[in-house]
Amino acid sequence: MHDHASHYDSNCIFCRIAKGEIPSRKVYEDDEVFAFHDINPAAPVHFLMIPKKHIASMAHLSEADAPLLGRMMALAPKLALEQGCNPYPAGGYRVVVNTGVEGGQEVHHLHLHVMGGARPWLKG
Ligand code: AMP
Ligand code: ZN
Repeated sequence: MHDHASHYDSNCIFCRIAKGEIPSRKVYEDDEVFAFHDINPAAPVHFLMIPKKHIASMAHLSEADAPLLGRMMALAPKLALEQGCNPYPAGGYRVVVNTGVEGGQEVHHLHLHVMGGARPWLKG
């Protein structure tokens, strides 16, 4: 689990972002998680949270990944507020995981979109 190198895909743009090989506007980083601003924001606050290890999509999750995904979900509210989302309930944010072609997934490294800020947004 902590052998990140064996989970690295050199053809994957988000693996390369997590490694710092492709620049990004970093929001957060720890041993297992990396977060960065979406390059094409759909809302005033729009960042992505990814596991550092390559998981292609939500469809690839196994039971062993549950703690990692749980940590990411628990971290999202803290990062959302830090990045300028307004407090619940008047504020809030949207957390989206596009999965597969029909789910609208374009980058095949699992990522949580966290979107928030004052309306209107570009989409939704
Ligand atoms: P999805 O359609 O869920 O796969 O979303 C992929 C997201 O990644 C889109 O919102 C893109 O704007 C974003 N994205 C793609 N390349 C980059 C990049 N180099 N840095 C930051 N965000 C990116
Ligand atoms: Zn990857």
